[in-house]
Amino acid sequence: MKVKEILRRPPVTIPVTATVEQAAETMADNKVGLLVIVDPSNPKKPLGVISERDIIRTIASKVPLTVTVDKVGTMGNIIWIGEDESVYRAAYLMRKHHIRHLVVLDQKGELLGVLSIRDLIAEDKIIESLSAERRPVTKE
Ligand code: AMP
Repeated sequence: MKVKEILRRPPVTIPVTATVEQAAETMADNKVGLLVIVDPSNPKKPLGVISERDIIRTIASKVPLTVTVDKVGTMGNIIWIGEDESVYRAAYLMRKHHIRHLVVLDQKGELLGVLSIRDLIAEDKIIESLSAERRPVTKE
């Protein structure tokens, strides 16, 4: 089963100039745990990501929520998967990198969506394909 078969919706993005507080509001409004940080003039090229965990860490370390998302998100080193890759590889990458979200890119390398660990358990047929497709993952 391919990643694109289980993608649910377009990605929820946030401008790189937005604050952490605005990111939290956007997550709550859209009921998602990760936003893709973009430059609005080039929204198909992700600059980074900010997840619920980054916001928890911001609060715990008493950094003001008025800082911009690039200060607390993960910038640059985006962990991504191609739309035509397998859901098994998606699970493998999440486990390997200790993350619950992957950025999904299309064949042109442009932002297509975000895959959450929740998406991997959303339906029986996905869980079944995870075990059925189990095979060595060679590509790093
Ligand atoms: P998560 O468990 O996915 O909510 O995120 C845990 C940490 O990994 C946070 O610091 C995120 O910014 C970072 N993170 C989550 N997903 C990705 C991703 N696809 N690429 C890079 N960093 C990520």
